[in-house]
Amino acid sequence: MPTIDATHAPTLRSWVESANGHRDFPIQNLPLGVFSRGDERPRGGIAIGDMILDLAALAGSGLVEGAALDAARAASADSLNPLLALGAGPRAALRRRVSALLTEGGAEQAGAGRSEVEPLLVPMAEATLHLPARIGDYTDFYVGIHHATNIGTLFRPDNPLLPNYKHVPIGYHGRASTVRPSGAPVIRPQGQTKAPDAEAPSFGPIKRLDYELELGVWMGTGNALGQPIPIGEALDHVAGLTLLNDWSARDVQAWEYQPLGPFLSKNFLTTVSPWLVTMEALAPFRIAQPPRPEGDPRPLPYLWDEADQAGGALSLELEVFLSTAKMRAAGIAPVRLSHGPAANMYWTVAQMVAHHASNGCEMNTGDLLGTGTISGPDDGTQGSLMEITRSGRQPITLPTGETRTFLEDGDELALAGRFVTDGAVSIGFGGCTGTVQG
Ligand code: MN
Repeated sequence: MPTIDATHAPTLRSWVESANGHRDFPIQNLPLGVFSRGDERPRGGIAIGDMILDLAALAGSGLVEGAALDAARAASADSLNPLLALGAGPRAALRRRVSALLTEGGAEQAGAGRSEVEPLLVPMAEATLHLPARIGDYTDFYVGIHHATNIGTLFRPDNPLLPNYKHVPIGYHGRASTVRPSGAPVIRPQGQTKAPDAEAPSFGPIKRLDYELELGVWMGTGNALGQPIPIGEALDHVAGLTLLNDWSARDVQAWEYQPLGPFLSKNFLTTVSPWLVTMEALAPFRIAQPPRPEGDPRPLPYLWDEADQAGGALSLELEVFLSTAKMRAAGIAPVRLSHGPAANMYWTVAQMVAHHASNGCEMNTGDLLGTGTISGPDDGTQGSLMEITRSGRQPITLPTGETRTFLEDGDELALAGRFVTDGAVSIGFGGCTGTVQG
């Protein structure tokens, strides 16, 4: 399990000026991504302030050696899969070396002049950001217990939380082919729906377009078919996290979800933030999993690990912002729809991974796991419009006087996340945004 080291020191500053005080990408973060510029081929990079360190160029620079060089070479491909497959050791070695090269006064100490590193930087504004990995399989969990309760109340007022919820991390297999990086257009899908009072279903543009505030968990190393991942080793298999928006068609969902669960209501688009915040970077932000309320069952032994309970949750603040076309035209800032802690997850990331592989299911490098919508119990903390507007019964009013029950064409929806704790410099994910097109 990654520990806090010199790369997290709050006193570290970078000679890349924009990194110092940067909301998401100070030198303590160093997230991994895939970028391209113009006609150049996509390759791995590390975000530092408003710049990207080109890892293919770093690999050929003579400035790295050993395990860090292995990692930089692996990151020269057009996806991070070869790097993620190397596991935590080379990834951490690369982080340590890059931290030294980018630290103020550190490049010289590290045996490399700043003038040798500077040509390896690309302005992020000139780059196109791609998915960090080629996703083999995508699974979406349902670990936000307040979301599960809120949604359950809307679909089944008498029976919101089903009896299995506190025993088994619920999930469904999603669709990897429609995961896109931040900025991809949200094309309003067509679908078959049936209003409760309608006599027959109909097909057309969906009306209840929603978002879901989630985290994306990216698998580093996998397991062989038939070989479960013990919970104590689960996080060794995880490379890092991104934000994830599980766009949802609530009217399709309500009609199709029984008896097999979500299908076309969920697989038309999933947006992720393109920068993968590594498990190494978030070491200072690990906190104890909140204790289960009195009377809740203790998880079965394959889902229980003391170290995971002691440090398997995250000190992470999540936010959602909405701006309509009319708001943008009037120069009105986006409205914050919700704000809450990621600690509202009933199951930890390690429990998700251990459960997924508990039957011997093969997990592979680049697999993506969504946490499920992360909501709090109170108004202002809910991670979907379905919850905020009580299934459309309580519209919200925006500064322009416009109202919303669900997303309308021209709406821009942005997720944000920021790791915050005493004694550490805060880090974030960067953007996870989509604009709805008719
Ligand atoms: Mn979801």
